[in-house]
Amino acid sequence: MPLPVLHIHDAPLPYVRKLEERPASAVDLVVIHCTELPDLATAREYGEKLLYASGTGNSGHFYIDRDGRVYRYVPGTRVANHTRGYNERSIGIELVNRGRYPDWLDSRHQAMTEPYTAAQIASLRALLGKLRSDYPELRYIAGHEDLDTAMVPSSNDPAVKVHRKLDPGPMFPWAEVMQGSGLERLHP
Ligand SMILES: [Zn+2]
Repeated sequence: MPLPVLHIHDAPLPYVRKLEERPASAVDLVVIHCTELPDLATAREYGEKLLYASGTGNSGHFYIDRDGRVYRYVPGTRVANHTRGYNERSIGIELVNRGRYPDWLDSRHQAMTEPYTAAQIASLRALLGKLRSDYPELRYIAGHEDLDTAMVPSSNDPAVKVHRKLDPGPMFPWAEVMQGSGLERLHP
């Protein structure tokens, strides 16, 4: 199937100018996430929440809805807060998917069962192609779960630990996404 023509809907977060600027050459990594929320509107609410003294919050740069539409919340030339320890060098891409919602840290509800849509994956591949041309140093791709492997006490039983981050999870089609991407999977 040929990749779709990529339309990026610019939808900057209200605090976008408070995020640190960086040159395009600072980006060598893309991190794949899923929202672990029911829909894009809820993901937007979470992205807009102010969490830090700098007047900013947590978000990816790009969001891909189930219908394949691509939204840019933060330009790639600013540092977004999406992956502990990797923000300065990376672009975060969030796919709308329920993940473990709403019992993220309940040890009895750790399965991620919602499939990613064909439209999402086609848009993601087209977006990766564009990023490769816009960011000359871009070489690596990783899942959030690969980069943040912390375990935390579960919400139902503190004696049982669960993964703080599991996205994009077992439903994510890595082989299809890697094919022809020109990127190397980063497993620290
Ligand atoms: Zn994530």
